[in-house]
Amino acid sequence: MPGFELFGSQERKEVNDVLESGVLMRYGFDGMRNGHWKAKELEQALQNTFQSKHVQLVSSGTAAVSVALASAGVGAGDEVIMPTFTFVASFEAIMMLGAIPVLVEIDDTLTLNPKAVEAAITDKTKAVMVVQMCGSMGDMDALQTICTKHNLLFVEDACQAIGATYKGKPLGGIADLGCFSFDFVKTITCGEGGAVVTNNQNFYTNADHYSDHGHDHIGNDRGAETHPFLGYNFRISELHAAVGLAQVKRLPEFIAIQKKNYTNLREALAEIPEVTFRRIPEGGEESYAFLNFFLPDTDTSLKVAEAFKVNGVDACFQYYNNNWHYLRKWDHLKDLKSLFPISQEVKNGLAYLKTKAYPESDHYIGRNISCLIKLSWTEAQVKERAQKMVDIIKSLV
Ligand SMILES: *Cc1c(COP(=O)(O)O)cnc(C)c1O
Repeated sequence: MPGFELFGSQERKEVNDVLESGVLMRYGFDGMRNGHWKAKELEQALQNTFQSKHVQLVSSGTAAVSVALASAGVGAGDEVIMPTFTFVASFEAIMMLGAIPVLVEIDDTLTLNPKAVEAAITDKTKAVMVVQMCGSMGDMDALQTICTKHNLLFVEDACQAIGATYKGKPLGGIADLGCFSFDFVKTITCGEGGAVVTNNQNFYTNADHYSDHGHDHIGNDRGAETHPFLGYNFRISELHAAVGLAQVKRLPEFIAIQKKNYTNLREALAEIPEVTFRRIPEGGEESYAFLNFFLPDTDTSLKVAEAFKVNGVDACFQYYNNNWHYLRKWDHLKDLKSLFPISQEVKNGLAYLKTKAYPESDHYIGRNISCLIKLSWTEAQVKERAQKMVDIIKSLV
């Protein structure tokens, strides 16, 4: 997955354009910037990539989730339904708005179970956020139908699914709002960065203002801008955008490499009868950033993951005991450890975290292993890795 594996002359050229002008700020300084607007150019490139009318770059994927929700008016006391398997960032981004993350069961897509979503809707629910984990997606049509029926905002955290599609449409560009991360390990990297993607003009304008202190960005003179509402600073810098601009041009190349490496590994594992794979919804195509497979039970999966580690099969994750991506071990969040007071309303809204059981999520995450697909592997390395993985699994199932 990580785009940093293939840095080259294009990344250096784009960054040097910025260093030569000295303008690191994405807005203003019109006369000094030698015509370079890297953030604007990257936003245009991403509009094409995600086939979406509007893209607002921000400083991270976490910021993208907060800005996306804020741009649609989600805030204090509102409930946002999301899956138990995610990255803590998606949870944090909701908390930052004073809103309440409501975590529900996943299914064999490794993200939202539509039935669990519908059962979790209350009169406080404002949005459903699917987290497109590990390069694939939820049942997008089923989730959209629920959101339409209950008049809820539909949001995609597509940070891990750059380049995946559903019924021919890029993920992140399907729901009302899509969120991307271009942090150091994502398929396209800016170092740090993120994007909010939407076809909704109003959400876009809100995101544009909100991510830069509420500035309206009208005219060339920053001093003359007005501030329609409160905002913060979630800007990306020109340096970061420059790296991303070089990387986005290489996305088709990255996806092709991922697909080739993924397919070779998958074909090898598919010969083991005890190995099954994560379900890709009909009409979906993964980004091939990860290969996700299931073993017959949690115990076997934990043993296989450990044996991978010991035998040098790196970059494979078993999320059951992981405290970044799976609710089970989020003790600091279950205990609501915060530097500052959390409102009683949010505390009440999150009380369920301590007691609620998630047997279906445990069933899928317990048996799952997620292997990152690297861009830098040679064919021989993939072959050797596949053989090692097959041998280890066969010796333990
Ligand atoms: C990486 C990631 C984020 C956060 O992105 P940052 O740019 O690191 O803040 C959010 N959600 C998911 C699913 C991610 O993988």
